[in-house]
Amino acid sequence: RKGNVIVTGASSGLGLATAKALAEMGRWNVIMACRDFLKAEKAAKSAGMAKENYQVMHLDLASLDSVRQFARNFRQSGLPLDVLVCNAAVYFPTAKEPTYTADGFEMSVGVNHLGHFLLARELLEDLKASDYPSRRLIIVGSITGNTNTLAGNIPPKANLGDLRGLAGGLNGLGSSTMIDGGEFDGAKAYKDSKVCNMLTMQEFHRRYHEETGVTFASLYPGCIATTGLFREHVALFRLLFPPFQKYITKGFVSEEEAGKRLAQVVSNPSLTKSGVYWSWNNNSASFENQLSEEASDPEKAQRLWQLSEKLVGLA
Ligand code: NDP
Repeated sequence: RKGNVIVTGASSGLGLATAKALAEMGRWNVIMACRDFLKAEKAAKSAGMAKENYQVMHLDLASLDSVRQFARNFRQSGLPLDVLVCNAAVYFPTAKEPTYTADGFEMSVGVNHLGHFLLARELLEDLKASDYPSRRLIIVGSITGNTNTLAGNIPPKANLGDLRGLAGGLNGLGSSTMIDGGEFDGAKAYKDSKVCNMLTMQEFHRRYHEETGVTFASLYPGCIATTGLFREHVALFRLLFPPFQKYITKGFVSEEEAGKRLAQVVSNPSLTKSGVYWSWNNNSASFENQLSEEASDPEKAQRLWQLSEKLVGLA
């Protein structure tokens, strides 16, 4: 049978390119989990994806109810779940004030981390139950959350501190909107959320790999300077960022190439190792990359897991 893979945020950028790459292989049914149903349908059509290789299902990661409803809807479809790709993200680098999810969490961490945390926890049972030869849970990470890299050292740097803001609910009412308890900073909130993504992947690996046989992985596909992620940025940045990445840092990858990389992590028989953060060198060969100290701190991962469970109503 065909494999069934859920890709969140498949309506643009990396998610769409990945959905397209997988659909073109002809052995995947891609479930595009998107907040804007019509946009996703149009995107799939204009990418030339054949109808029999995909379907769109509604998912808004900015609402925990929507996440739970998505899991129910998916189960009702009767399809086994073979791979889950947590890809969607928002980024508000120039925001002066925080915005909030339906449940009152600061939006970047709410969508990028907490929404995906609940989704992955809800669907782990389904991955476990599948009879597919290689079942995988993939969370898209980023170099920007990794302070052991040049890009990760451009201020404001990611830093979860002692997680006091998260413990307080991240809601700007009684608590801070930032995980470390500091003043709101949209660019930092995004980087923090990516550290959460990488910590979460490793904690999944430690807790569930042996028991379930599921492969847990994260990746940095390269700098895809052309995606919608930068839509909130100032115009001059949007103009200069792609050539800067292309000619100065040489970290630039096209959406198509990045989509192929993520599709390898979904589908390639040689990328089955669990607990790995994948990256690619300039010749597009994959390798196991090192995470920063904070992004690989097991105690922080465990505390993040416990606090996140409370916030999404699992504990
Ligand atoms: P895009 O903005 O192009 O895509 C983000 C996707 O997430 C869109 O499909 C968007 O939906 C979706 N999304 C946003 N909010 C929600 C929500 N509440 N519920 C459901 N879906 C939502 O960005 P990219 O393709 O660049 O980003 C994809 C991933 O790649 C992210 O995890 C990002 O952190 C990561 N990444 C990106 C890099 C880059 O250089 N661009 C580098 C490293 C990692 P909609 O179409 O409706 O807006």
